Amino acid sequence: TAAVALFTRDLRLRDNPPLRAAAKAADSVVPLFVRDTGIDAAGYAAPNRMAFLADCLTDLDHGLRERGARLIVRTGEVVEQVCRVAHEADAAEVHVAADVSGFAARREERLRAALESAGRRLCVHDRVVTAVAPGEITPAGKDHMAVFTPYFRRWEDTHRRDPLAAPRRIRAVEGITSEKVPSRTRTKGVSPGVPEGGESAGRKHFAHWLRSGIDAYEDRHDDLAADATSRLSPYLHFGTLSPAELVARARRQGGPGAEAFVRQLAWRDFHHQVLAARPRTSRADYRTHHDRWRTGEQARAETEAWRQGRTGYPVVDAAMRQLRHEGWMHNRGRLLVGSFLAKTLYVDWRVGARHFLDHLVDGDIANNQMNWQWMAGTGTDTRPNRVLNPTTQGKKYDPEGGYVRRWVPELADVPKRYVHEPWKLGEEEFAALGYPDRLVDLGDGLDRFRHARGK
Ligand code: FAD
Repeated sequence: TAAVALFTRDLRLRDNPPLRAAAKAADSVVPLFVRDTGIDAAGYAAPNRMAFLADCLTDLDHGLRERGARLIVRTGEVVEQVCRVAHEADAAEVHVAADVSGFAARREERLRAALESAGRRLCVHDRVVTAVAPGEITPAGKDHMAVFTPYFRRWEDTHRRDPLAAPRRIRAVEGITSEKVPSRTRTKGVSPGVPEGGESAGRKHFAHWLRSGIDAYEDRHDDLAADATSRLSPYLHFGTLSPAELVARARRQGGPGAEAFVRQLAWRDFHHQVLAARPRTSRADYRTHHDRWRTGEQARAETEAWRQGRTGYPVVDAAMRQLRHEGWMHNRGRLLVGSFLAKTLYVDWRVGARHFLDHLVDGDIANNQMNWQWMAGTGTDTRPNRVLNPTTQGKKYDPEGGYVRRWVPELADVPKRYVHEPWKLGEEEFAALGYPDRLVDLGDGLDRFRHARGK
């Protein structure tokens, strides 16, 4: 007997329930990854993620070869390709992780129907992409929880399974052909700072984080210059690390840093369960305020300056430039630039979310769209009318200006006093920096936003 283990956002051998189940259910397995052309067609195949994905697949293939198999890669429409491979292998079952987007839900539905019509079975596994499955802790009669604190209380009490070891040997189905595993070097337009992808790199990174990062996390996670967060988000997005395993190991280590880190992983599950219940909120407002977001020539020009990191507000520009350079941005930066776009410029959060998805290696429909909505005040559990002041926030979270100086070379030599307000330098001195003037007056932005929201 044969089974297909279809990898999606679980590109790992350890703690991978679909792979384990496929290996248990059948004598031999086809470890399959489909480069779904639907994702390219929808414009979500951003170069930074494609480069990281190539590393993940290369590493997965190595791991499988060490265990007697190899990764089978196909390109095309996902349902068609899976059915074709299942037919070639004469597989009775296809095992896959449950996922939360509307796209994933439709994929699952179509795959189930297509396989069943050929007499095969689709087996969908929970707690692969998230530590706790969407709906698992939802009160009866509801389809999700919209407030984080009560969600977190239940989440913490939920019994978690022990992480699964990687299979020692995998007997592969003979004679299944594969395309070449994609390589990062062939991907064009990748940001220079995109980290190495893959389970091996992710595990090294996580081990280092447990040893020398997590203990200081609670105190330093908001310090922009310290860069003291885990940077595990790309590995979590592609599932080269298992969220359940991260929770278990951080808990075992213990301490306030580990607790704070686990809480962030719960935020990840929280947003995933909202999207699973309300897939339309990847585009539609979760909570509508009848915003008439600014459009037109001026708003477009301001948005472009925001994208380029040329707003004249140092901490906003630093964060936007970090995004372009690394394909990643500090969470405090994401909050600041999100507030600046949606509230100060009063441009639709979807425009910002799209720009993020074009660059972020961790770009993720659940986390990105839900956090943008949270920031824009259209989402769940949010303070809809709170506007972050980039100058005050810059002084608070980058008190020495180290983050600004790292990413905005025009300001590298500006004294600490002026680094978040360079316009306070003398006129000539400011002009000599070659740094842009402020795009908008913060007070005007605030008035416009309050007026629009009727506050
Ligand atoms: P750490 O602080 O080390 O946190 C550990 C892990 O917890 C993260 O890797 C992530 O998986 C999870 N996490 C942390 N904060 C959040 C959060 N607010 N919501 C959900 N999960 C969280 N995260 C993404 O993974 N993908 C995105 O596309 C994304 N877009 C965002 C857009 C905006 C406007 C905002 C405000 C936040 C966004 N986030 C996104 C959440 C958060 O900023 C990143 O997860 C975090 O910065 C990643 O860095 P880290 O791994 O060092 O995080």
